[in-house]
Amino acid sequence: MIPGFPVTSAVIYWFRNDLRLTDNPAFTHAYHPARQSAANLHAVYVHDPKQSVETRWGFKRMGKHRKAFLAQRLQDLASQLKAIGCELVQLHGSPKVALLAFSKSNKTTHICCEDIAAPEEQAEVDSLKAAGLEVQTLWQSSLLEPVDLPFDVQQLPAVFTAFRNKVEKQGLKPRERLLQTANVPESEAEKYLKHYFSGDFASTYKLTRNQLMETTVGQPFSTKFSPWLACGALSAPMIFAELKRFEVERGANDSTYWILFELLWRDYFRFLHLQHGRKLYLEQGLGDTYLPKLKHNKQGFSRWCEGKTDEPLVDAGMCELAATGWLSNRMRQVVASYLIHDLGGDWRAGAAWFEAQLIDYDVYSNQGNWLYIAGRGTDPRGGRRFNPEKQALEHDAKGEYRANWAA
Ligand SMILES: Cc1cc2nc3c(=O)[nH]c(=O)nc-3n(C[C@H](O)[C@H](O)[C@H](O)COP(=O)(O)OP(=O)(O)OC[C@H]3O[C@@H](n4cnc5c(N)ncnc54)[C@H](O)[C@@H]3O)c2cc1C
Repeated sequence: MIPGFPVTSAVIYWFRNDLRLTDNPAFTHAYHPARQSAANLHAVYVHDPKQSVETRWGFKRMGKHRKAFLAQRLQDLASQLKAIGCELVQLHGSPKVALLAFSKSNKTTHICCEDIAAPEEQAEVDSLKAAGLEVQTLWQSSLLEPVDLPFDVQQLPAVFTAFRNKVEKQGLKPRERLLQTANVPESEAEKYLKHYFSGDFASTYKLTRNQLMETTVGQPFSTKFSPWLACGALSAPMIFAELKRFEVERGANDSTYWILFELLWRDYFRFLHLQHGRKLYLEQGLGDTYLPKLKHNKQGFSRWCEGKTDEPLVDAGMCELAATGWLSNRMRQVVASYLIHDLGGDWRAGAAWFEAQLIDYDVYSNQGNWLYIAGRGTDPRGGRRFNPEKQALEHDAKGEYRANWAA
């Protein structure tokens, strides 16, 4: 039960980036047995029109691929909710206007939702509170709970390796996965999770994760968990539980460990937000203020977005991104580096383009990785330039990727 909310009163559960019923602590709190009737629990999703407004960089915030993926996940969620007698109400408007109107017509001032430690998302919650609503937020999007870290999150090490060493040294304590709500059908995300671990892909993950594309159709070279994680259709503890089960049944190795390693990167960027907040959104990021002022290379940026830079590997990557809404980690590094270090572009424009295009857009991971490559985040080497020719030789020696995504 959520402390402070009487169980007899109705609650609005506001789904944000946690579109699931399984292992959703905030929802489980709201879905208290005394409130398990549709009359007492209002499940709501808010479509904010600001997603369709042009950004300062000249394009809409949410592109067609993410929109389509989100629509599918909302459908999944609606059918899961239906199984427990609850309707998913989809509102349109800013969270403040839409939720305030909904709370008035349903005569409740209680809202429960997950906590998102990014400036815009926090401002949404603040505006609801300022309007007189009682909002209870719960942190739930990481694998490790901030309170279980061996240090105060404000003392988060400035370098990922130091963070990983510290948490591993004390023994990893991931948040325990909650059991599935009774009578809820398996979601598409859970089916995908099962499918991934039913194959042998996890045993070879470390050997294949840097590939640019599948060598055999249907054999994922990386987990492809990111789209499900980003909208919250899967949680990190759900993945961790399956990973551990896989290790017990089929054996642990470097590859299975490396999936955990990458999930720790994901946590790291979350905790970095808890530590630095708004600072991560400044032009200089965590860098010193004497860093040179950024110039927005408008023409170079347009060519980059369209996949017309004349650098074949970069262009192939940008074409893949536009066509599918997804890109391997290696290609994300290559194209981001090219915009920043070769075209002299503004990393914030690149991050905004990724936000619009990626079906797995995640505010923490996107911001953290762009800052890292720009040398304005936590990279001990102070920025990363990936030489596209060298990368092509190493990862696309036969030119198959470039041929596949030629403009
Ligand atoms: C410039 C740039 C922007 C990025 N933007 C995003 C984003 O918006 N959303 C997003 O989820 N990831 C982002 N990433 C991180 C990474 O590229 C993707 O998470 C990964 O490629 C997704 O594919 P996968 O699920 O198959 O990953 P796998 O290689 O299978 O990794 C398993 C999981 O670990 C996590 N992970 C892996 N690498 C990273 C990383 N570098 N940082 C944080 N978490 C990681 C993801 O949750 C991923 O699903 C970005 C990377 C770069 C370089």
